[in-house]
Amino acid sequence: MRSLFPGALPVIADNHIHSTFSDGQDEPEDMIRAALSLGIRCLCFTDHARKESDYIPTYLEELEKLKKKYRDRDITIGKGLEVKFIDEQGNIDFNLLWAHRIDNLIISFHEFPGEVYQNKGQLEFKKTWFETLRGFTRKHLIILKQENPKLRVILGHPFSMWLKLGLFPEQNEVSRLIALANQAGFGLEINVNPKHRLNDEYIQLIVNSCSIISWGTDSHSCLELANNSSSLLEARQLYGGIKSGYYDPA
Ligand SMILES: [Zn+2]
Ligand SMILES: [Zn+2]
Repeated sequence: MRSLFPGALPVIADNHIHSTFSDGQDEPEDMIRAALSLGIRCLCFTDHARKESDYIPTYLEELEKLKKKYRDRDITIGKGLEVKFIDEQGNIDFNLLWAHRIDNLIISFHEFPGEVYQNKGQLEFKKTWFETLRGFTRKHLIILKQENPKLRVILGHPFSMWLKLGLFPEQNEVSRLIALANQAGFGLEINVNPKHRLNDEYIQLIVNSCSIISWGTDSHSCLELANNSSSLLEARQLYGGIKSGYYDPA
């Protein structure tokens, strides 16, 4: 594969990708090779983990091995995981003991609280969504940050569940999320995958006002990475976020 961006390259970091260790289709090393050919200079693996996931030690060893193998190449490899919220108290399906071995922890709304919308309607859904986040910041985030000062905690694909349910967030709701993130010290992801992407106005709002930003394609294969990497670069040029959110998992 030829590089899509020959010549002077801005640093492109993709901090959200999946491999065969969870539901991705390609091995980590294939993803690294694809990233190199696409001009991505920083790649953080964030495979899905649950409390009982037993693949994590092998996964981390493999990434460590690849980090060493590609040390002299023009790419930085990061170790991360993506986990999900499970209840309104902000509990996550994750064994906190793994946190000290990773660089990036993406926490996402995947199923919960989808059923609240079906059973109780949109007001209750929105309330539960924010309540879950607040519960998380009050308890788990404080412990996570105390015990792992270098760990970056990121809310994955913010509002994508809302969009999937046909709910379009108001601007004051986006601002409320940004305020909560800045105050509690977690980051917001700008997910450029067409499945999760927010509208231009809200991406710009996040780039302008959020203290910690993480950019990601949420790719599950080399092909998806190739398809999404140009939107990653375009988005960063469009919203002026070339420097912001650059993440170096040294
Ligand atoms: Zn996700
Ligand atoms: Zn993901």
